[in-house]
Amino acid sequence: MSEGIAALRGAALAWQADPFVVPPEQALRYESDAVLAMQDGKVVAFGSAREVLATLPGGTPVTRFERSLIVPGFVDCHVHYPQLPIIGSGGHGLLEWLERYTFPAECAFANEDHARSVAGMFLRELRRNGTTTAAVFCTVHPVSVEVLFSEAASSGLRIIAGKCLMDRNAPDALMDTVRTGYDDSKALIERWHGRGRLGYAVTPRFVATSTPAQLESAAALWREHPGVLLQSHLAENLAEVAWVRKLFPDHLDYVDVLDRFGLLGRGAVHGHGIHLSGRERSRLAETATAIAHCPTSNFFLGSGLFDLGAAKRRDPPIAIGLATDVGAGTTLSMLATMGAACRVAQMRGDPLHPVQALWLATGGAARALGLDERVGNLAPGLDGDAVVLDLEATPLIDARTARVEDVSELLAVLMTLGDDRCVQATYAAGAQVWERPDACDKAQ
Ligand SMILES: [Zn+2]
Repeated sequence: MSEGIAALRGAALAWQADPFVVPPEQALRYESDAVLAMQDGKVVAFGSAREVLATLPGGTPVTRFERSLIVPGFVDCHVHYPQLPIIGSGGHGLLEWLERYTFPAECAFANEDHARSVAGMFLRELRRNGTTTAAVFCTVHPVSVEVLFSEAASSGLRIIAGKCLMDRNAPDALMDTVRTGYDDSKALIERWHGRGRLGYAVTPRFVATSTPAQLESAAALWREHPGVLLQSHLAENLAEVAWVRKLFPDHLDYVDVLDRFGLLGRGAVHGHGIHLSGRERSRLAETATAIAHCPTSNFFLGSGLFDLGAAKRRDPPIAIGLATDVGAGTTLSMLATMGAACRVAQMRGDPLHPVQALWLATGGAARALGLDERVGNLAPGLDGDAVVLDLEATPLIDARTARVEDVSELLAVLMTLGDDRCVQATYAAGAQVWERPDACDKAQ
């Protein structure tokens, strides 16, 4: 029975509730000496060391982490793996950035070897950053999805991905048709969706690069496959919003375009959602459509400051998950992304509590993707996904975290100063998938 149990011991955080619904301090469960036990890919026990150790079979090996914090594995709700090679190509707004850097870079993904090499690096970087679940955009080429899924199958990570659908307003080499877009996506769903930890997302890039016929076809494909997600972009940049208005003059606004083509609803996750009216937010909330908040990308392209408060102060609130949106995003670190979300909120005069920021990168993100019964928390029955954060990762982090008064302050310091250097070890589906090379001195 003890065979295959992985037990981690150290300070740990788990969720008791949504910190946007209850006071943040009450949403957290903090154990200064916890044990997380995982077996067959799942969490089998989490709680105080005293309680959990008594239930484990004698001889179960326990890895102990000192001056660390164990948290649920991070969830990145929106990221483009083919854009990893152009991260940091800046100085432009969204539409020019797409034309100058992104589309040329994506053309290279017709080549399987190139796609495989970037997919491998991307998955390694996720593990190094403590990200155990990600919703990923590929390119228009089916091979870009094949390669990512085949690499991900052995990575231990939960990867949701899809082939971009684009049949207008893009270079010829990056366009499909209504027919090929539907058929290729359907074949990928049949081959990969639900295989191990892999899932599919129907992926119309955004409404300006798909004809009305393709948007209808994407919605049909999504509805025909329950459990498959839908991911796209929404109201990221003002020039884009004006363009969409011109392309769809008979619609009320951007959200109305998605709405009338059947692209809203539970299981739909739209990136950004910065430039929205009250009507649009209400419609997203009513339809249980989620938004992926991508703060470092929004800074990098100068897209705008997402109004998280307006999304959350509704009844019901809009489901929000945090996301890196690399390559416009400037980091794959969800810790750094949490820090950026706090800065966006400050700029809006509507501060974000650090506990809420952590929620947006774990439990809240899982909920946005409809995966909260699988990931986003440390609780029996959920996938064994956890990150061990090193409180001594740098001299300054060491000195600063030694003086915190409570968990909220500790989280605030980690998301202000921390990034991949803090990730001492990553566990996915109950197994260690990353250990910082110098970290073995710390784990006992
Ligand atoms: Zn994006």
